[in-house]
Amino acid sequence: MTAPKTGAETLLIVEDEAQIRKFVRISLEAQGYRVWEARLGEEGLSLCAATPPHLVILDLGLPDVDGLDFIRRLRAWSAIPILVLSVRASETEKIQALDAGANDYVTKPFGIGELMARVRVLLRKEERQAAASALFESPGLRVDLGRREVMVDGAPVSLSRKEFALLALLVASQGQVLTHEQILREVWGSGHQEDTHYLRVLVGHLRQKLGDDPMHPRFILTVQGIGYRLAV
Ligand code: CA
Repeated sequence: MTAPKTGAETLLIVEDEAQIRKFVRISLEAQGYRVWEARLGEEGLSLCAATPPHLVILDLGLPDVDGLDFIRRLRAWSAIPILVLSVRASETEKIQALDAGANDYVTKPFGIGELMARVRVLLRKEERQAAASALFESPGLRVDLGRREVMVDGAPVSLSRKEFALLALLVASQGQVLTHEQILREVWGSGHQEDTHYLRVLVGHLRQKLGDDPMHPRFILTVQGIGYRLAV
């Protein structure tokens, strides 16, 4: 553990490979973050409980605790953002991690630039949520969650209840990927997790109303085989 700098955000890395821990720690500290390290899942969970960090970077392949169990256990009582480090070619694992409550993932081997970008996005999201802003604006799209108003290029768009629910969900996730299962559960309720065709149809309708070309989307991006995210 390094000596805390006051005012810096604290990040916890839970990873059993010493080289990766060191590489990530040095890079994060160079950006002014405070970094805690845990080699084991149990150690990481105790640290989170004792002094919650602002973000957890979690390797899914730990020697003592299954990465997915780690996420579920932490999510049982905490909303700390979790950035997962997963091994390439394990698409199912990524989806399971997001479904379990992880916020984003980086595939190993990763570049430090990519990792930093994801960390910044997650920490900004925390700040924005703290500010409780109900207004989302990106080039061409404006969504007022409180008033349930949507504007595309300055013109109001009228959405059905489910279309708005889907858009609100995408807006709330601030550009992070939402899996098919997460969206189905949020918009249709539990018991519809398998009904991906409902979701495809709904996304199609929403894109049509927003004037979003599925081939060259401006707003709703398809993450092949995983889900959707909003362009931010
Ligand atoms: Ca590992």
